[in-house]
Amino acid sequence: MNTRPNILFIMTDDHASQALSCYGSRVNRTPQLDRIANEGVRFNHCYVTNSICTPSRATILTGTHNHINRVTTLRTHLDNRLPNVAKHLRSGGYQTAMVGKWHLGEGPAHCPTGFDYWSVIPGQGLYHDPVFIELGEEIVEPGYVTDITTDKCLQWLERRDPNKPFFLMCHHKAPHRPWDPKPEHRSLYTDPIPTPDSFEDDYRNRAGAAEAARMRVARDMTYDDLDLVELPESPGKREIGGAGRTIPFPEDDRLDGFSLRCRNTGEMFTFKTQAELKRFKYQRYMQKYLQCVHSIDENVGRLLDWLDANGLADNTLVVYTSDQGFFLGEHGWFDKRFIYDESFRMPFLVRYPPLVKPGSTCEAMASNVDFAQTFLDVAGLPQPNYMQGRSLKPLLHGTVPDDWTDLAYHRYWMNQDDCHNAYAHYGIRTHEFKIIYWYNQDCGEPGARPGTGQPEWELFDLRKDPLELRNVYHDPAYAETVALMTAKLEAEMLRIGDTPMH
Ligand code: CA
Repeated sequence: MNTRPNILFIMTDDHASQALSCYGSRVNRTPQLDRIANEGVRFNHCYVTNSICTPSRATILTGTHNHINRVTTLRTHLDNRLPNVAKHLRSGGYQTAMVGKWHLGEGPAHCPTGFDYWSVIPGQGLYHDPVFIELGEEIVEPGYVTDITTDKCLQWLERRDPNKPFFLMCHHKAPHRPWDPKPEHRSLYTDPIPTPDSFEDDYRNRAGAAEAARMRVARDMTYDDLDLVELPESPGKREIGGAGRTIPFPEDDRLDGFSLRCRNTGEMFTFKTQAELKRFKYQRYMQKYLQCVHSIDENVGRLLDWLDANGLADNTLVVYTSDQGFFLGEHGWFDKRFIYDESFRMPFLVRYPPLVKPGSTCEAMASNVDFAQTFLDVAGLPQPNYMQGRSLKPLLHGTVPDDWTDLAYHRYWMNQDDCHNAYAHYGIRTHEFKIIYWYNQDCGEPGARPGTGQPEWELFDLRKDPLELRNVYHDPAYAETVALMTAKLEAEMLRIGDTPMH
């Protein structure tokens, strides 16, 4: 019988901590995810090194920053010859599996390596009747992707060798755009959903990046995102959305009876003002997003129930996280990419009864670059020197080592991407301040544009301005803080070997 700890790593795609009730959600309840928090530890300061899918996944697997693993953007795929945490666990006696969203490339050079079993969706995959690539073979699985991903995990757990410990990565596609819920969940969250405090942000007192980003709920969502057709219908109007996005929503202040029809239900909606239309878009966006999260919650419950039923709950490290955060209307936005808190922060919940006090919280800084070493440490295996994080194991039982870091680092490389026009930047966050350098120039990465060549700095005083609405970088009262935070940023870049832009 195995006595070494098992590791169940559950990761979703774009699930913001603002949409978990254990993180104080004002918009939904997540009772199954809350089980992990109630029986484990909730990290309040876990951050992503690069707030976008592919690079975050590369960092989690390899325990290195993106300038080291070379997965800096959505177009750079993982060289699967690199060592990764699954390979180390496997050679240390673990049986390993990877199920669900991979998003690190396909084919012999990029498919999962280090796993006894893998079954992954190609690229972004599909919500309904998804294709999976299972150990290199393409198969279509009928049903809803979140259910199927869980089914595959449970089937592998059932047929695994109980005499060896397991490492299972369960990577859900949901709740990534296009937010497409399970049909049974489409009637949920139809009551008015409260808007966040910074919903009406006007992007004043900030660097140009906030104003320039094309991720506004009011302006940049498509008819397809929200399952809408404009009335009166015409073939051109029905083509809106997806890659096309050819016809924008009207921008007039007075809409004068502008009408939309729901593509699924036929329901009609009429608007008089832009304010009404914006509120409607937010409501619809959040409904669909939270309906997708609902299915995640149910399916995490199925995995926890299976551990209970099989007597494995006490001996299994269960982690719940998302590849990064997401804007749920904060600053008027959807999407991610930025070091601003809502997209920078990852939900990170850990249950492991031998070490963790139930219902505890952790305020120390943690990062996705720490995950690989944490797993190796808990498994009792050596942590390779090339890894750049630090094991979170002491934090699991409430001990913060004296020399623990007081900051989290972030770098987004893809300057002015075609879709969201997000500016490249790097920066750090401490508990009190955040400094950001928008270098706004071509860094030579795939998908990056030359930019305006006008670099800008931001400093936020998170004690007084937790919503990050006022850049105080140029305020003389903060000159000392600017000097201190700049020095910290430079030291951190030097420590991890990342190259500044000048
Ligand atoms: Ca993502």
